[in-house]
Formats: sequence, structure tokens, C-alpha cells
Amino acid sequence: MSENIPSIVILYREKVIYMNSFCLKALGYSIGDIADLDPLDLVDVREEEKLKLIENMKRRIGGESFDEKYTLKVKKKNGETFWGEIIARTVFFENKWTGLVIITDVSDRVVKELNLQKEKDIFKEISELDDLTNIANRRSFDERLDNSISDAMLKNAKFSLIMFDIDRFKEINDTFGHQAGDAVLSELAFLIKENIRKNDFFARFGGEEFMVISNNIGIGGAVELAEKLRLKIETNGFSSKINVRCSFGVTAYKREDTAESIIKRADEALYKAKENGRNRVESVE
Ligand code: GH3
Ligand code: MG
Ligand code: MG
Repeated sequence: MSENIPSIVILYREKVIYMNSFCLKALGYSIGDIADLDPLDLVDVREEEKLKLIENMKRRIGGESFDEKYTLKVKKKNGETFWGEIIARTVFFENKWTGLVIITDVSDRVVKELNLQKEKDIFKEISELDDLTNIANRRSFDERLDNSISDAMLKNAKFSLIMFDIDRFKEINDTFGHQAGDAVLSELAFLIKENIRKNDFFARFGGEEFMVISNNIGIGGAVELAEKLRLKIETNGFSSKINVRCSFGVTAYKREDTAESIIKRADEALYKAKENGRNRVESVE
């Protein structure tokens, strides 16, 4: 009966014992190949998936009945693969428990889904990064700050916020040109990325303003970090020999803080640093 079905039909015990003619054609085998064929030669799967398949195949030829439906890569005789949707059953055939497999080629659908997912991943990455500096943009900063606040609230954890702004950046633009200004922003972002820990979050907040969210440190640690970054910037050789200096405002998370309230304190501290002569770190508790 299965000879007339336009689907791949396979029966197996330890080895393959039957393939319908549609299957032979689709996988590129001839009847003579079947006798020695291990069912696992027909799939291209990772080791742990293989172990699961072996276990299920054993259960079937031991007479257990259960339904399976899954999608995996099917391998042809010539090594080419395609995505198959697989339905498996236990049947009683020629007086023995036998595994029955029906496979439908769903490559078109799976490839479309995979491409769509890839596009989504790429889009998400682009939409979270700032074009010029390639660090997190304002949107992802806002998201991350909200997460840090909920985390701190739930787990009673601490974190600090460091806001910094390039001193007299307008003059840099006016003297060296907007493009040189852009280069300063990129170089500065790169320098900071190199000098913070992996789990510190660094973002461009706007024009020439940046933010660091530093987990698990209080205001003292954050002031130290800010001072270290300030000095790195001051002593860094930027292209066109431009002298770049930054002012820093530091604050730490307090109970009942909102994104707005903690940013406001960091901004106040930054304002103090500008007022007190720039190229310095100030904090507000
Ligand atoms: P202060 O020390 O008080 O921070 O002075 P400032 O000149 O840095 O501050 P101000 O806010 O007056 O000027 C910021 C300048 O940053 C103005 C704006 O044109 C420039 N800017 C903002 N975004 C960019 C950018 O993406 N590229 C370049 N080249 N300039 C930018
Ligand atoms: Mg500035
Ligand atoms: Mg500014």
C-alpha cells in the first residue's frame, strides 16, 4: 500500500528492512542498499540527539508504543541533507515489533523560518547599537537600567551609575571639524570598553554623553572606577593629537529609585564636576 504514497516510508528493526519506492528515489538508494543500512545513517544529528533516537528505536523494537513527531535533517545516500518532518510509530510487521517512520520534506518551511530568525537576530543587534560608536544605544541603556533596578529591588543587590560627558566638545568640533569629533567619540568608546569589566554595561546616552552601569559596586567603588577612566582618557593619545578630557558624575542605586531619579542624581553630580572645573569626578549620594 505504501508504494503509492508520495511520502518517504521506512520500516526498521536493528537495520532498515523496508523503504517504499518514493523513499528510495528521494534518498538515492537502490533496493540492494537496504539490507545493511543502519537507520541512523539516514539522519544528520548531534550526538545527544542521536542517543535519544537510539533509545527510542530500542523501545519500539522492544514493542513499546508511543507517538513521535519531530523535525530533523535527513541524509541522502550522496551525503546531501534536507529538513524532514518525521512521524514515528510502532507496528507489528511480519510477526515482530517494528519501527515505522514517515518523512515529509519540509526544507522550504524550515529554511524560511531559520532565515527569518537570523534576520530578527541581526535586526535586534542593530537596533540596540549606536551607529557611530558600536556600543549600546540609548534605547538599550533604558532597558538595561530598568532591569538593573528591578534586579536590585528583588535581590537586594547594589549597582552604580556613572555618567560622563566630554569637556568643551563643541570647541573640538569647531577647531578640528565634525569628522574629527566623530573620530574622538569612536576612539573614546573603544578606550572605555577596554577598561571596564565584562559585566559593566556601557552605553552612549546622547551626543557626547555616556553611561556606565556597574554591577555590585557601591558609590566608593564607582568613584574609583570613574577616576581610573578619567585618567585613561586624559593620558590617551587620540588621533589628530586632540586633547580629550571628560567630567564624571557618579551615584549609586538607592531603595525606591526610579530610572528617572537615579539618572537625575548622576546628572547633578556631572553638573557639579563641570562647575568645579571639569576633567574631574564628583558624586551625589
Ligand atoms: P561642556 O564641557 O560643558 O560639556 O561643553 P561642550 O562643548 O562639550 O558642551 P555642549 O553641550 O555645548 O556641546 C556639545 C557638542 O557636542 C555640541 C554638538 O554639536 C556635539 N555633538 C553631539 N553629538 C555629536 C556627534 O555625534 N558628533 C560630533 N562630531 N559632535 C557631536
Ligand atoms: Mg560636553
Ligand atoms: Mg553634553
